[in-house]
Amino acid sequence: MKIQASGCYYHSGKLAVATCSKCGVGICRDCAVKNNQGIMLCYPCGNEQLKEEHKQYRKQLSEHGGRFNKISELVIPTIIGILIIVAKIVAEHYGIITQSDNGLTYIAVSYLLFTIPFGFVVLEDLIAPKYDSLANIVNRYCMMLLGAFFIGWIVFPYALIKFFINNIMLKQ
Ligand SMILES: [Zn+2]
Ligand SMILES: [Zn+2]
Repeated sequence: MKIQASGCYYHSGKLAVATCSKCGVGICRDCAVKNNQGIMLCYPCGNEQLKEEHKQYRKQLSEHGGRFNKISELVIPTIIGILIIVAKIVAEHYGIITQSDNGLTYIAVSYLLFTIPFGFVVLEDLIAPKYDSLANIVNRYCMMLLGAFFIGWIVFPYALIKFFINNIMLKQ
C-alpha cells in the first residue's frame, strides 16, 4: 500500500511538492517529472508512460515498413556523418588528434566515424527514452554513441540497400 503523506514517497526526509497524477503518491522536486502534456508524474509512472509511447512509436514505424524508407532518414545521418569527418580533419590539422600513417586505417576509421549517426538512429528506435538525472542522461548518450560506433558500419550499407530496394526497384 502506498501511503500518502506530506513527505516524498521515494525520499522519506524530503517534502512533497506535488502528487503523481497517475499513482497519487507525494513527490519531491527530484522525483517529479512533467510529461509532454504538462502533467506531473513520479519517475516510475513517467518512465512507464515513455515506455508505452515508445512501444506505440515502434509499432507505427514497423507498420510503415521500418526505418530507412524515406530520403530524409538517409540525408540527416549523412550530413551529421560528414560533419564528424570535417571535425576529425580539423582536429588533425590542429594536431589535437594524430593522423594515421596507414592509408587503409585512415579510411577505415573515417568510415566508422561517418556511420555513427546511422547506428545512433537504429539505437534510438530500439531503446525507449527515460526520465533521469542529467548525469545519467549524459552517460546514456555516451553509451549509445559507443554502441552506434560498433553497429554503424553495418547499418549504413543496410540502410542504402533497403532504401534502394524500396524506392527504386519496387517503384518501377
Ligand atoms: Zn506515479
Ligand atoms: Zn523524492
